[in-house]
Amino acid sequence: MKNCPYCKIEVGGDLKKCPFCQSKLVGEAEERYFPTQTILKIQSFFYKLQLFLVWVAIIALVGLDFFFGVKLYPSCNFHWSLLFVMWLLAFEMSIIRLFKKGMNAARVLSISAVSIMIMLGITAYYIGFFKIFVYWVLPNAVMATMIANFIFAMIDKSGNAMGYLLTNLLMGVLPYIAFYLMQKNSPLEWIICLLVSIALLIGAIIFRGREVVNEIQRRLSV
Ligand SMILES: [Zn+2]
Repeated sequence: MKNCPYCKIEVGGDLKKCPFCQSKLVGEAEERYFPTQTILKIQSFFYKLQLFLVWVAIIALVGLDFFFGVKLYPSCNFHWSLLFVMWLLAFEMSIIRLFKKGMNAARVLSISAVSIMIMLGITAYYIGFFKIFVYWVLPNAVMATMIANFIFAMIDKSGNAMGYLLTNLLMGVLPYIAFYLMQKNSPLEWIICLLVSIALLIGAIIFRGREVVNEIQRRLSV
């Protein structure tokens, strides 16, 4: 056990400093009492290094775009550097998220999928592949997220994943309805998305019926 030569106390665990006088403890460390605080890793050299490099990149890109008038491609008529800034900042935020505990897989997946799709939508709008995004990329991403969340809901014992699955399934149905109301027909990919979401909902009811009911009751507070 460690001890403080000044306070003459014994201190269990693997603390480095005396909790009273902050002097360095001496003696053999025991097994640690507290779990490692992941927040401390944010202070690490590699975290700071990548953060610095990201900021250098942001400053360089914004400088090239705004002050030197460099174009991403000849017909580029928007401030392309802002797109890079958006992705780089999102990358930083996702790194910070990685250090946060208590996030279940379904939550991480849902938040990431929604934020990536919003940013991809903005990027697609400016670069000029918005149609491909809406008709092909988005429905496939929604489907992949639904299927992954379905798997999480099946293996998750806590029931936390069910809420994300049900919200997801709604995301598979709403675009179909929106397209149908706007133009009386829906693109093939969104029809497939609708069918997949219905199939997964039936699967969820068959395998985890009780949880589905609980989740709906919880959401509607009935
Ligand atoms: Zn002390």
